Amino acid sequence: MKIGIIGAGAAGLTAAYELGKKGHEVVVFERAPFVGGQASTFDLNGSKLERGYHHLFLSDVDIIDLVKELDMGEILQYSDSSVGTFYDKKIYKFGSSWDLLKFSPISIVNRIRLGLVTLFISMIKDWKKIENFTADEWLRKYAGNSAYDAFWGPMLKGKFGEQYFNQIGMTWIWGKIHTRFASRSNKFSKEKLIYPIGGFEQIFEKLTTLIRKQGNSVNISQNVSKIIIQNQKVIGLEVHDSPASWSSPQPLVNKSDDQIYSHSNSNIKFTKYKFDSVIATCSTPVFSQLIEAQIDVKRSYLTKLKNVEYMSAVMLILVINKPFSKYYWLNIADSSIPFVGIIEHTNLVSSSLYGGKHILYITNYLTKENRLYKLEHKDLLSEYIPHLLKINPEFDGSFIEDSYIHKVDYAQPIVGSNYSKIILEHNTPIKGLYLCNTTQVYPEDRGTNYSVQLGKKIAAKVMEKQ
Ligand SMILES: Cc1cc2nc3c(=O)[nH]c(=O)nc-3n(C[C@H](O)[C@H](O)[C@H](O)COP(=O)(O)OP(=O)(O)OC[C@H]3O[C@@H](n4cnc5c(N)ncnc54)[C@H](O)[C@@H]3O)c2cc1C
Repeated sequence: MKIGIIGAGAAGLTAAYELGKKGHEVVVFERAPFVGGQASTFDLNGSKLERGYHHLFLSDVDIIDLVKELDMGEILQYSDSSVGTFYDKKIYKFGSSWDLLKFSPISIVNRIRLGLVTLFISMIKDWKKIENFTADEWLRKYAGNSAYDAFWGPMLKGKFGEQYFNQIGMTWIWGKIHTRFASRSNKFSKEKLIYPIGGFEQIFEKLTTLIRKQGNSVNISQNVSKIIIQNQKVIGLEVHDSPASWSSPQPLVNKSDDQIYSHSNSNIKFTKYKFDSVIATCSTPVFSQLIEAQIDVKRSYLTKLKNVEYMSAVMLILVINKPFSKYYWLNIADSSIPFVGIIEHTNLVSSSLYGGKHILYITNYLTKENRLYKLEHKDLLSEYIPHLLKINPEFDGSFIEDSYIHKVDYAQPIVGSNYSKIILEHNTPIKGLYLCNTTQVYPEDRGTNYSVQLGKKIAAKVMEKQ
């Protein structure tokens, strides 16, 4: 069977690798000039750094097993996490259940209530029981308004904005709490996190090497412009070189027998490839664009696709010459500050990996219409600096040696209540065409582990249909 895969992120590469193990012919097309998708890295003065902060939890067993299978287990570094919350001009430590009890902005009764409710959520096994509720209504009811307004509310608003925060399903909070509790040896101990020293991308580069050794191809800088459908069946992909503006290494174009023909249109060369099956790991809006112009696609299916919504992630990465705080993960629960978190990567791994420099990701989840999303790099930096001073009054612009901006559209799917009833299936109405993306991760929140899981699942599904 010949299978085309759109996207060389965790899902696409895992699917290709699994299909290759069973002897199938696979071609992966990736529009970026690198593999790894959302978990890819860039070169920071000779070291590799993720474009967006990344770590693994102890419960991320699918990706941990994959790393071990790739014979790379030794790169996984296990470290204690350190979590804080900036609230009302002060940083509060939030590393364990005991720290909750010291969160003085709310009364001791409400702190105990917050702790007990968190513990209770961690003990709920069947998430379907709370799926009917939005996090806003459930948490206000059981944890109380003051705990909600000081703790959960800012977190939900930060991640989903004013537009969506009160629509998010309680299951999303359930998934977050379960992942974090599963990353501790017991409910009262410190959370452990894992980072692959040398960066996440090396996992995806090794997968790429193995896929090529299986005799298959991973073609970077190749943008899929159309999924070709005939008589309700997928028959191939139309592909062209990614724009040169995405400064990239030379594309590795696979010229096999499957290449049907090439044509040129305003200097863009389109190539069509025949496939028996296609797996799309791109976001749902991109998937929708790739199929929408074709008469074989039912309008009702396109409407379903159009209902899927996401937030974009905007990261300002600062390379600084002094540590900013002692926390790896600092939640910002202060609505006067225009970002939601500061992730100090070098409080999880040693700054010696980056020539002694410290790395901060200043994170935001925004809609594309948001003013901050549209700001240029230097304007965003100027906007953020005064707020960094509120958190650390000793911070000074001269700490900053370098800065980078990175935006990921379609980063965080909007997961409302009763999401299981609207989640898109992997099978599509088009025979041989499969959708496999982060909106289908549920009840857990999206993450590299779950994309590896999806990749394995979709490979099995495609082979089963053979
Ligand atoms: C800011 C941020 C922080 C995160 N932190 C963590 C973390 O700490 N831990 C963790 O495990 N996960 C984290 N994640 C989530 C994790 O990175 C993703 O869930 C995972 O990498 C998704 O993998 P994927 O293969 O499903 O999708 P993607 O990585 O999005 O891969 C899809 C690929 O398809 C390509 N593509 C799209 N359209 C086309 C086209 N037309 N033609 C060809 N190629 C196309 C894209 O370029 C992309 O490479 C984070 C994500 C973000 C944005």
